[in-house]
Amino acid sequence: MNVLDTIAAISTPPGEGGIGIVRLSGDMSIDIASRIFKSNTGKRLDKVKSHCMVYGHIVDPDTNLEIDEVLVSVMKAPHTYTREDIVEINCHGGFTPLKKILELCLRFGARPAGPGEFTKRAFINGRIDLAQAEAVMDIIRSNSDDALKTSVAQLEGKISREISDIRSNIVDLIAHIDAYVDFPEEDVEELSDLKPDIERSIDKIEKLITSASTGKILREGLKTVIIGKPNVGKSSLLNALLKEERAIVTEIPGTTRDIIEEYINIKGVPVKLIDTAGIRDTNDIVERIGVEKTKKFLEQADLVILMFDSSLNLTDEDMLIIELVKDKKVVALLNKSDLPSVLKIDEIERSLPGAKVIRTSLLDGMGLDELTDYVYGLFYNGDIRIDDPIITNTRHLACLKKAVDSLRSAVATFDDGKPVDLITVDLMAAVEALGEITGETAGEEIIDRIFQNFCVGK
Ligand code: GDP
Ligand code: ZN
Repeated sequence: MNVLDTIAAISTPPGEGGIGIVRLSGDMSIDIASRIFKSNTGKRLDKVKSHCMVYGHIVDPDTNLEIDEVLVSVMKAPHTYTREDIVEINCHGGFTPLKKILELCLRFGARPAGPGEFTKRAFINGRIDLAQAEAVMDIIRSNSDDALKTSVAQLEGKISREISDIRSNIVDLIAHIDAYVDFPEEDVEELSDLKPDIERSIDKIEKLITSASTGKILREGLKTVIIGKPNVGKSSLLNALLKEERAIVTEIPGTTRDIIEEYINIKGVPVKLIDTAGIRDTNDIVERIGVEKTKKFLEQADLVILMFDSSLNLTDEDMLIIELVKDKKVVALLNKSDLPSVLKIDEIERSLPGAKVIRTSLLDGMGLDELTDYVYGLFYNGDIRIDDPIITNTRHLACLKKAVDSLRSAVATFDDGKPVDLITVDLMAAVEALGEITGETAGEEIIDRIFQNFCVGK
């Protein structure tokens, strides 16, 4: 195990909470905590059994001032998150006690932890690989059960195992070629199996690459815009979806003040409704922000739900909106189907070829199931199942693409009848790219960049 200095950080999120935690990791953790902790029974921290909690107080030894009433857990290496000695001081959740306790830890020899440094240590000390470290971050940020599930699977090493398998197959091939080149006269197995072997690896990687579109939706939600002229029922639909799917996970203001993003869950698929804050009030996005801006706004959508009032004829306004969404994935709702119908389905199908058209009535909920089924089907297209390894990380995707390019180039070299040791160069590049995912061959810069994205204390 590498010997690193001892780090400390407030590990609970900023703001007031019921409890707060200051976490220490490193050789000096127990020593530092001992100096500022007094147990009521006189029990010393270095005598505490690993993974047990002690009740007592944090006292500033220089002033004898009592800072807070605390529970301290002591976890001894190597069976800890970082594989180092860890002490966690559970105190009252206000900012002042937390800050004061952290200050004491620093005064007695700890260094403030950088973003993600605890997790980085778990990586450096070999407890988890890079893909697993990234999963930790994804778990913190996940906004649906399925996203959480894939992140947990990743943390458990599912992706890493799959990648390692492919990688070690390629390493075997390289060894095989080397043996052939070094001892051509010896009885080295024929190289004829080489190409199918490489192609099998290509297939496996391509399957992972395909899974990334599912992964992206799991990570970011299916970005969906509800659009339509005033009074067609947009707000009613939004409310119906929110009511039906009670799992509203978050409501966060987007990058501009105008945009609101709301997550709902449709049968486990995270759907991110992108809404301009005004849509619900002024109703008319096109009129309010203009055609160009609306186009820009629609660009980010994976799916557009375009609503019509089926009791009325199409208007110029409808036609304008149809024009704007033409190139998008569209599901058209002929709403107010409880009223006498004027608008015909084929009329819409003609103006929006390829769009799915559904009759709905938000008065009685008609068509809502068909809508949610459709959204679900969009997501679970093809044969991707949630239990397969799913790539959710853009960095992993880039590495996989690099690897597959190198393997294709290896096949081309083979087909061109070039010397067989040239193939090794491509195979090595593939090995390198795959190793970047799990961290075997990732450079320091990549590693630093990944942990920069973590919050301090994790
Ligand atoms: P928005 O302007 O597009 O957001 O439309 P709203 O959701 O505010 O609905 C406009 C009006 O249409 C409201 O009075 C709703 O109650 C009514 N409405 C919405 N959906 C239906 C429907 O399916 N059938 C009928 N009859 N009225 C509806
Ligand atoms: Zn509205």
